[in-house]
Amino acid sequence: MIQETIDLAQALAGRNPHVIRDALDRFSRADRLFWVGSEPVDSTAFNWRRAVRGMVPEDGLWQPFKAHRGQVDWETLGWSVLAQHLSRVLTWGALRVGLRGHRPQLGWRVGSLVEVMYLQLLEHVTQHPDFGIGQCDYCGAPILRVRRQQRWHTGCAPAGRQRESRATRKARLTTPPDP
Ligand SMILES: [Zn+2]
Repeated sequence: MIQETIDLAQALAGRNPHVIRDALDRFSRADRLFWVGSEPVDSTAFNWRRAVRGMVPEDGLWQPFKAHRGQVDWETLGWSVLAQHLSRVLTWGALRVGLRGHRPQLGWRVGSLVEVMYLQLLEHVTQHPDFGIGQCDYCGAPILRVRRQQRWHTGCAPAGRQRESRATRKARLTTPPDP
């Protein structure tokens, strides 16, 4: 699921509605029915109605994948689905109160590696929603870019640069000089 989530975040960074639609299609085969009948009472609940561009269905049940492509705001729908997913997966790792000695202490409990990855993804989409996700030139793993043209993970950068400068030197040595 983390891969589908990363793919969705990447599609959203690119802002192409067709790419977003495809990523959403792969992302959630189950969540295809959205309640758009009335504004949510709870202000933190998702207002799926914002993603409807055409007529709101009479019975309040909206099926974006059955609607005409142009009648769906795929970007709004995509961001809402991503936010809902992140809040679901991070709920069980939320703030907890534990005990240190005999005193209650507020602490963030990180439950698992997957949770850490989701937290990093959340940070990425809140701070650099349009930077996208690339592939590290050194280790090949996905990279949540903190700069627009970031090519390596922070940890991989020294080794990546070294490998690159070796390659450039080699290219210089093997390329015959211009006449
Ligand atoms: Zn790397």
